[in-house]
Amino acid sequence: MPVEGHNGLKGRICLVTGASRGIGAAVARAVAVEGAGVAVNYFSSEREALLLVDELKALGVPALAVQGDVGSEADVEAIFKNIETELGQVDMLINNAGISLRALVTETSTAQWQKVMDTNLKGAFLCCRRALPHMIRQQFGRIVNIASIWGINGAACEAIYAASKGGLISLTKSLAKEVGPLGINVNAVSPGPVETDMLRKELDNEERNNLVTEIPAGRLGYPEEVASACVYLLSRHSSYINGQVLVLDGGWKI
Ligand code: NAP
Repeated sequence: MPVEGHNGLKGRICLVTGASRGIGAAVARAVAVEGAGVAVNYFSSEREALLLVDELKALGVPALAVQGDVGSEADVEAIFKNIETELGQVDMLINNAGISLRALVTETSTAQWQKVMDTNLKGAFLCCRRALPHMIRQQFGRIVNIASIWGINGAACEAIYAASKGGLISLTKSLAKEVGPLGINVNAVSPGPVETDMLRKELDNEERNNLVTEIPAGRLGYPEEVASACVYLLSRHSSYINGQVLVLDGGWKI
């Protein structure tokens, strides 16, 4: 059974996009432990999403796997319809789905640019736009956008990814001003490098080891640490925090 925490998540419904693996899966678990129902959105990893949903249901919370591309307006509409039918209205949204791109600007095609922007930025916009009317009606909502330290500092060979995350941070701050008066908090978490498939795909062992030597914490971050930050930003303890970007990078870029 879920712990009856004092975080105020119990009984709420949370959509976590890109929750089949990595950070999204950790967030889904952490939110379920707090007693919230969870919609586990995935794009291609159906098996992982279904296994995660079984795990969450075993905690005693409602859970649902929902396939869909967050960059597609039609898919986002279908994702929300499905959740509303099976679980109820979405009170909390974690815009986590994302893809990376390691390439020089001069070697990036327009199609690559578009795919990164569609997934990392347009996806968050579409999900926010679809989730907000219900949140506004009930004068309560929580949105957490998973940005990146690159979205603040920039990064050579990751300019397009960094631009998408920088845009997500601007969206976060602006939307917080727009809907803050309506009881809705919109914040971002900006992790440094986190141990997931995304990072393993990006870095070879030598690059990874070099990176670790630059981080005061002496290690990369864990998905569970990002998940804890998300739970805090969803919780009643953070109700006066709005439009902020919480950096989790082991002291790397401060
Ligand atoms: P990951 O392990 O590669 O997982 C990515 C997740 O996003 C998967 O569940 C994937 O679903 C989903 N996804 C990809 N494209 C999608 C789409 N079009 N529609 C719906 N879902 C989609 O990545 P991660 O490391 O956990 O990253 C999660 C988030 O944290 C991303 O936004 C990333 O930019 C950000 N972040 C990561 C790091 C890091 O070092 N890992 C650092 C800073 C920020 P399927 O598997 O089902 O296709």
